[in-house]
Amino acid sequence: MRISQLFTKTSKSAPADEVAKNAQLLIRAGYVYKVMAGVYAYTPLGLRVLENIKQVVREEMNVVNGQELIMTNLQPKETWQTTGRWDDDVVDVWFKTQLKDETEIGLAWSHEEAIMEMMQQFVKSYKDLPTSVYQFQTKLRNELRAKSGIMRGREFVMKDMYSLHASADDLDTYYNSVIEAYKRVYARLGLGDDTYVTFASGGAFTKFSHEFQTICDAGEDILYVHREKNIAVNEEVLEDAIAELGIDRNELEKVKSAEVGNIFNFGSEKSEQMNITVTSKKGQQQPIYLASYGIGITRVMGVIVEKFADEKGIVWPESVAPAKVYLVRIGGEASIAKADELYADLKTAGIEVLYDDRDERPGAKFADAELMGIPYRVTVSDRLLESDSYEYTVRSSGETQILTREQLHDIIN
Ligand code: ATP
Ligand code: MG
Repeated sequence: MRISQLFTKTSKSAPADEVAKNAQLLIRAGYVYKVMAGVYAYTPLGLRVLENIKQVVREEMNVVNGQELIMTNLQPKETWQTTGRWDDDVVDVWFKTQLKDETEIGLAWSHEEAIMEMMQQFVKSYKDLPTSVYQFQTKLRNELRAKSGIMRGREFVMKDMYSLHASADDLDTYYNSVIEAYKRVYARLGLGDDTYVTFASGGAFTKFSHEFQTICDAGEDILYVHREKNIAVNEEVLEDAIAELGIDRNELEKVKSAEVGNIFNFGSEKSEQMNITVTSKKGQQQPIYLASYGIGITRVMGVIVEKFADEKGIVWPESVAPAKVYLVRIGGEASIAKADELYADLKTAGIEVLYDDRDERPGAKFADAELMGIPYRVTVSDRLLESDSYEYTVRSSGETQILTREQLHDIIN
């Protein structure tokens, strides 16, 4: 992608009302556009990052046999009434509206009930189970406070997966396989070292639910972690969990964290409330066991920015970066020709490149490369041309090398 053709431009400042570092940097670098508090649009560059995160998640959900679909944003009130979750006292983030004929509907904040309702059309017998479906969907929630940038949206992208089972045991086995899949997701996104499977307040069926929490100063949660034992507990269940796990409170470190994922065992509760059953082996009607598994796609993007950014700007891990290489062209005709050629070569090799082909000062180009956080910067200049070499700089470390064309290709591929 040629920077001269991008409609977005970098800027030195973010909107005055934006207090979150992640959003400030993402706005300045041209990844997101702020519409209002908690509501952000994603530019072509921002969309690339989101798609990269989604692809990592998609691959791992496919490993656990998830089938991708898309549910709707408009939801009938009746879908949620049977379980009591239409009630604003039970779910306090509903956006509700009306059709022209005054039928009340809700805008999707989650999909457990909607999935169960759809599934009853297809799942009739224990033989149709287990089954697992997931989607990437824009969730709408009327959050009270939205001051954490894209980490807390009123409109945000979530991956939500739902698994349906014929027995509690079968659900447990699957649930554990999803925990492993989630660990792979966060590791691939560069968050593995600081992300903990966390004991949080109860599922419908179990004493604790599991959250995936990433240690992050900009997070809204408080976590108690035991790094060596790899245990983490959400503050909200601390006393309970300490008793249950038999751990010493003094050995736990208190940190701020962001909930990047949540998995929840509903047991047979939804099935019973909604009166949705399947035929069992013995030919009787039996309940369905349900679990749901969320990942905050846009929140993860914000957490990555918060954790890796430095004083110069964003630092993307390679797995999510909108491009692998930021190609800077400095100088006259010969440099232009050489940079054009390298751009074409890298593209042919399947490498995503942001080509800074603007007639800007070198300093401005370097500053933009750093603000935008592209992992590797390659510079072509008149001076380097004389020795037929390229300057190569790693964004995360700042380390710079002068390389021959061959060395450059080896290091980038
Ligand atoms: P929180 O406690 O942060 O409000 P939640 O318990 O409401 O989260 P879930 O309903 O379990 O979250 O949603 C699944 C995942 O979606 C969360 O783990 C989080 O990563 C993400 N998420 C939830 N609310 C938001 C939001 N307002 N903006 C961005 N991501 C969110
Ligand atoms: Mg919430």
